[in-house]
Amino acid sequence: MEHSVPLIARIALNRPLRRLFDYIIPEGLELTPGQRVRIPFGRQQATGLVVQVGVEPPPGITLKAVAGAMENWPALPVETFKLLSWASDYYQHPLGECLFTALPPALRRGRIAEEKKDQWWLAIDSGSTIPANAHKQKALWDWLNQRSNGAPTTDILRAGFNRAQLKALQEKQLIEVVSPARPADFNEAPELLARRPRLSEAQTSAAEQLATPDEGFSAFLLYGITGSGKTEIYLHYLKEHLGNQDQALVLVPEINLTPQTVARFQRYFGARIVVWHSALNDSERLTTWLKVRNGEPVILVGTRSAALLPFTNLRTIIVDEEHDSSYKQGEGFRYSGRDLAVYRAHLNKCPVILGSATPSLESVHNAEQAKYHLVKLEERAGNAAPPVISLLDIRSRPLEGGLSRPALNAIEQILAKGEQALVFVNRRGFAPVMMCFDCGHMVECPRCDTRLTYHRRDRAMRCHHCDYQTAATEQCPKCKSEAFKPVGQGTERTEDILATAFPDTPVVRVDRDSTQRKGSIQGILNQVNTGKPCVLVGTQMLAKGHDFPNVTLVVVVNADGGLFSVDFRAPEQLIQTLLQVSGRAGRGTKPGKVLVQTCHSDHPLLKTLCEGHYLDIADQLLKEREEGQFPPFRAMAIFRAEGDTMEKSLQVLDTIKPLANTTGIETWGPLPAMIARRADKHRAQLILNARNRKKLNSLLTGICQELDQRKLPAGVKWMIDVDPQET
Ligand code: ADP
Ligand code: ZN
Ligand code: ZN
Repeated sequence: MEHSVPLIARIALNRPLRRLFDYIIPEGLELTPGQRVRIPFGRQQATGLVVQVGVEPPPGITLKAVAGAMENWPALPVETFKLLSWASDYYQHPLGECLFTALPPALRRGRIAEEKKDQWWLAIDSGSTIPANAHKQKALWDWLNQRSNGAPTTDILRAGFNRAQLKALQEKQLIEVVSPARPADFNEAPELLARRPRLSEAQTSAAEQLATPDEGFSAFLLYGITGSGKTEIYLHYLKEHLGNQDQALVLVPEINLTPQTVARFQRYFGARIVVWHSALNDSERLTTWLKVRNGEPVILVGTRSAALLPFTNLRTIIVDEEHDSSYKQGEGFRYSGRDLAVYRAHLNKCPVILGSATPSLESVHNAEQAKYHLVKLEERAGNAAPPVISLLDIRSRPLEGGLSRPALNAIEQILAKGEQALVFVNRRGFAPVMMCFDCGHMVECPRCDTRLTYHRRDRAMRCHHCDYQTAATEQCPKCKSEAFKPVGQGTERTEDILATAFPDTPVVRVDRDSTQRKGSIQGILNQVNTGKPCVLVGTQMLAKGHDFPNVTLVVVVNADGGLFSVDFRAPEQLIQTLLQVSGRAGRGTKPGKVLVQTCHSDHPLLKTLCEGHYLDIADQLLKEREEGQFPPFRAMAIFRAEGDTMEKSLQVLDTIKPLANTTGIETWGPLPAMIARRADKHRAQLILNARNRKKLNSLLTGICQELDQRKLPAGVKWMIDVDPQET
């Protein structure tokens, strides 16, 4: 017989390598892209993912063979596989690491794709027989054979059988573990669904503009002011349009910050809701991942990485608060969960709804370009009216803990009426810096180019950019002067002032320090939801989608941080934050008021804020972006370098710069990053700004390949960030 050419599989490993590995497919083994395999790698075995089969064997190289398939089905179904391959190219991140990001940690490590506790068993008739004396095995087989859906291990053990009997029957091929796994009962909460409020006229009209899953891919930007009832529209949409067998994905910024949103989905859809976020443990991740992969008709509510899950029957995607910066992964595989969600909808041929009261300029631009359909919802739901925003110039006013007299008076008034106030401070801790009023010394982080924040509750000085912390001192560490004082505002300091000013009212602080314990945010929210008078003081966290019906006043301690920043995204982020916090006021039946303290009350950006028409502001900001030739009018990527010394970091970027010297592409830098030293790494960056995204993409591919070939100085790492959020 003629010797046939062996079939070759090209395989990706979970390593930061821009290359794949070829292996022979042993006879009798069938492989498809996305399937997990075990392969010999060096002296060990590794878990790989099949990328391609049937490739030409490279000449003159002896290849090893695949040791075996981990499952006889692809862990990554075709759309998921395509999505990640596309993302690997778009974000210039090694394919192997991209693909493995879509696996739960247990499967990355090579565990079997089965739930450990609850395997699902089915009787099969393979023609083999059970020995006459194995009564128990016979009984188990009969028992299972009566159940056409099979049964989980727990039920089998409960019925009096044991694992040895299962194993014996499995070896005789009389029973097998089935996947898809268990059929779920999702119709748990029908009476709650019936109690959903009727959509208002405005909501109905918005909902009617959204395409149904049957209409295939289309992208919608649902611009709805805070409290306009966007979440209610999502619930309504899923109820009306999602079939019993369909899957849906709901992306949310940070689940642990908004337990209310998840609870609302659960109330309406019961067990059909599954969640996905960073606080899940490995076995919870595996369980949920398998449900999604097995095509169970789940509605998955999750954070950015949920966009990568292996849905097989995805029929609707919703991205809530689509402007939120947490959708962008900040390290490693630096993808945007929102943007991948849109591409995924395209691959899965289903609608995607991007919702926000303050949509990103990118999305507004896409709507203007008719890439997204714009759906507007410009009145609040129920009887609520939009809050009235006014500026409070604090230039020559005395402040207490950052608060002016008029602001304190306003708080006092609404407390007297039995209502709640929310005070927004940009910084956690007591004060952003400790300063000596004799010698001018300010305490800096020894590892970063930043100052240490004073945390009075723990008597600590902490760096918010690395893990460094040290004990706080009473005297200046340099000249021992006693005139060593906190400067500026943090949440703790404002909390103290409020507690002194309103001794009979609870003051509740909400920031990363006060909510570290699991579930503590829920406790805080419960307290606020009693509706009793209180003052909430906190950071960004308070701005995120919460629904506090009895908050009628919001005070912004200082709005000036983002006004004069060099980051081109700063004005957009400032306006988004201010409108989002403002949106916490007056969501119930009582009207809301917002006081924004500033030293720049004549600043045009803040003036337009008071008019509150976000889309007008966005238009204005987009004009500025266009004039400055910034995204979304240009495609941007940043090469970042982190080294032992700034010299090395700049040196690496200096070698990149000439590689990027092409028409249509501008390079800015290399320059030290805004915080040049962070955790003892010296950081620099080179910005690439291009008219044409395709051209930028192929240029980046070339540069990355070139850099992989070159020998770069030791002690420096370089990385690439496409569509950077931070510059
Ligand atoms: P958004 O997501 O736009 O911030 P929500 O969906 O959270 O808005 O709605 C804001 C508030 O209005 C919630 O308390 C919600 O229960 C209520 N609400 C929403 N739609 C309606 C409606 N049609 N009738 C009565 N109340 C509604
Ligand atoms: Zn001093
Ligand atoms: Zn530091």
